[in-house]
Amino acid sequence: MNGSLVVVSGPSGSGKSSLCKKICGEFEFASLSISTTTRKVRAGEKDGVDYFFTDESSFQDMAAKGEFLEWAQVHGNLYGTSRVWVERALESGRSVIFDIDVQGQASIVRLFPKETTSIFLTTPSARALRSRLVGRGTDDQEAIEERLINARKEMESIDLFDYLLVNDSFDESYNLLRGIVLASRIKCGAVSLSKFISNWSN
Ligand code: 5GP
Repeated sequence: MNGSLVVVSGPSGSGKSSLCKKICGEFEFASLSISTTTRKVRAGEKDGVDYFFTDESSFQDMAAKGEFLEWAQVHGNLYGTSRVWVERALESGRSVIFDIDVQGQASIVRLFPKETTSIFLTTPSARALRSRLVGRGTDDQEAIEERLINARKEMESIDLFDYLLVNDSFDESYNLLRGIVLASRIKCGAVSLSKFISNWSN
């Protein structure tokens, strides 16, 4: 079995986390990378399920010890990806799904250029993003404005991604993402080519 890394980035509110969670619910081989963050817990979130919530000094300790594969400041909070967990998952042939920002995507692509497939997920317009952020009711007005400013900045990185998914309909986006995740497992960089080629040498 082949492992693969699938990074989903894009503006906050574009639907990344629902799509990623559904993929991991459907495919036994797929696992979501659970990040560590200094952000405050939102209503309905659980420690160890949505994130590992921590304070800034513990986060900095972990970063100094090299426990993160990548980490970044996003919307004023710190977020980091567990190095050990991702390396083990990849070695055991799993597909790791990342819901991380564009800085995280750049780091994962740099570290695992062959194994990584990256997708930029966004809404059809800024107006659609605003109405989703207002509709989900998790952020106040100031946070929404900050997320919209960030969204415009993140859009400048689109051409660094393999795929652009415009999330107009959840079902349509899910079908496309599903196809990309399946294809990520047969990318020549991810497949164990030496093992395959040895079957042809005798
Ligand atoms: P939220 O606070 O809304 O859950 O996430 C804010 C942003 O941080 C989202 O764009 C999310 O994808 C990103 N993010 C979550 N975890 C990580 C991580 O470990 N690394 C990076 N670079 N970004 C992350």
